[in-house]
Amino acid sequence: MKDDNFLKENNAKHLWHPMGHPGDSLKNPPTIIKGADGVHISDLDGHRVVDAVGGLWCVNLGYSNDVVKDAISKQLYDLPYYSAFAGSTNPTAIEASYAVREFFAEDGMARCFFTSGGSDSVETTLRLARQYHRLRGEPTRTKFLSLKKGYHGTHFGGASVNGNNRFRINYEPLLAGCYHLPSPYTYRNPFNETDPEKLAQLIAQAMEDEIAFQGANTIAAFIMEPIQGAGGVIVPGETFMPLMRDICDRHGILMISDEVITGFGRTGDWTGARHWGVKPDMMSTAKGITSGYFPVGAALMSEKVADVFEKDTTGEAAIFHGYTYSAHPVGAAAVVACLSETLRLDTKTNAAARGTQLYQGVLKLAEKHDIIGDVRGGHGLMTGIEIVSDKAKKTPMDMATMKRIHQTAYDAGAMVRLGMHNILMSPPLTISEDEVNTILSALDAGFSAA
Ligand code: PMP
Repeated sequence: MKDDNFLKENNAKHLWHPMGHPGDSLKNPPTIIKGADGVHISDLDGHRVVDAVGGLWCVNLGYSNDVVKDAISKQLYDLPYYSAFAGSTNPTAIEASYAVREFFAEDGMARCFFTSGGSDSVETTLRLARQYHRLRGEPTRTKFLSLKKGYHGTHFGGASVNGNNRFRINYEPLLAGCYHLPSPYTYRNPFNETDPEKLAQLIAQAMEDEIAFQGANTIAAFIMEPIQGAGGVIVPGETFMPLMRDICDRHGILMISDEVITGFGRTGDWTGARHWGVKPDMMSTAKGITSGYFPVGAALMSEKVADVFEKDTTGEAAIFHGYTYSAHPVGAAAVVACLSETLRLDTKTNAAARGTQLYQGVLKLAEKHDIIGDVRGGHGLMTGIEIVSDKAKKTPMDMATMKRIHQTAYDAGAMVRLGMHNILMSPPLTISEDEVNTILSALDAGFSAA
């Protein structure tokens, strides 16, 4: 390892960071995170803070799970890589697919297709959704519906169903035939509706209208996150996802639940769809599937979808899609160990309890700090805080102030994440009561510095 001076000298000089401005990174070099333990991260200058971000919504087991680390390192020696393209596989991939199927059995997911991450998993579901309809004899079903403020990764398909123009505008033209419905975002929406259940009804009507306008027989799938994550932790009303499910069913549209964040316990249940009592047709997953220890994702298919592919006799069901690292043996070892640890530690139960503590604590902070416009969460360890400079006008806070809040909170003991004028939190699901309190006091310090 090079010395600290070398690292500081070369920081961001040769590496372009995702979601960052290359010029800005040179002027304000990113914090160098050098180590981690439990739910803490440590930087090069010796600060050790609670990671309220969980890496990037992914380090569900915290940083010190030796079962997962040992499984990864053992697999590296047994078989570091072999292709899983048709014709060969590896023992750990077989075991991982079994573990995934068991984990998602209650959601009705019957088959999995391994990928290298969330964007890949989204892309896989979108592509297989189109192929599913072709196989069923409805090749006109090619369009996709999604929600504004949704985040589905940055591949062209995922960016096309993405509901935030920051991720789209520089990369257009995107995939044709993608249409966006309003987000179940009670703080701001085109209907000025603050009641989540009434808003759910209005969006359901907008979806019906869009389907009537496009023609149901042109729509392949509807994709949504059970709780919108990167868009600001937007929690829909209880009836929202069931309503969407019902509309999809009535119009022959596949429902894809994007569980890249919400899967594996983050919402306080094992999946976000299960949390809302919905069985989707497909799921995209990643992040918590390996607790971020190895880049893996999985696209999951229900029996209904799988049947159409598996019973095909024309040859058209061949899947000409896949990644060199699909079913990577080391990734598969991480999946097997991570799922078994997730179940053994029952992380969803702690996520529910600590999530409530974090949410209630932030609501209390909102009584003290006028800059808090909206607090969203209460369903596991996903919490969003919308910061405004004028509460009555809901004016988004400027970025200089947001950065000051972020830095002060960091200095006071917690790494939080900024999503424009939102503070987003998704700490490891293994976090303790005291560690949640550390996050809350760091936030208090941050807001006081605004
Ligand atoms: N879908 C959702 C809901 C996500 O939150 C993310 C990433 N935050 C993705 C897809 C893309 O995943 P990845 O960054 O692993 O490609």
